[in-house]
Amino acid sequence: MNLQHARQRLLDTRTELEGRLERAHKHIRGREEEVSPNFHEQVVETGNDQVVQFLEQEGQQQLQQIDRALQRIDSGDYERCNKCGEAIGEQRLGALPWTEFCINCV
Ligand SMILES: [Zn+2]
Repeated sequence: MNLQHARQRLLDTRTELEGRLERAHKHIRGREEEVSPNFHEQVVETGNDQVVQFLEQEGQQQLQQIDRALQRIDSGDYERCNKCGEAIGEQRLGALPWTEFCINCV
């Protein structure tokens, strides 16, 4: 497996994710400063904020996974399952470049 390629893919995904999180942050902060005069609109806005907050949490978790994967590339453990030590497999890492576990240990 081409680790240089895998690293670049993780870094690209990380950059994209950070951009998305930055936009979600701005969205939440912008909403907090506004007070909608219309109750119905407020309900809709609150619902959107919850979605954005959920996406933000998910994004943070994924960022951590990406960082761990990058560390694993540096330490030479990237292609080994973190639980059983077997090879994760190139196909699986191609589909989920930040995964730490082989298909049997998920
Ligand atoms: Zn395993």
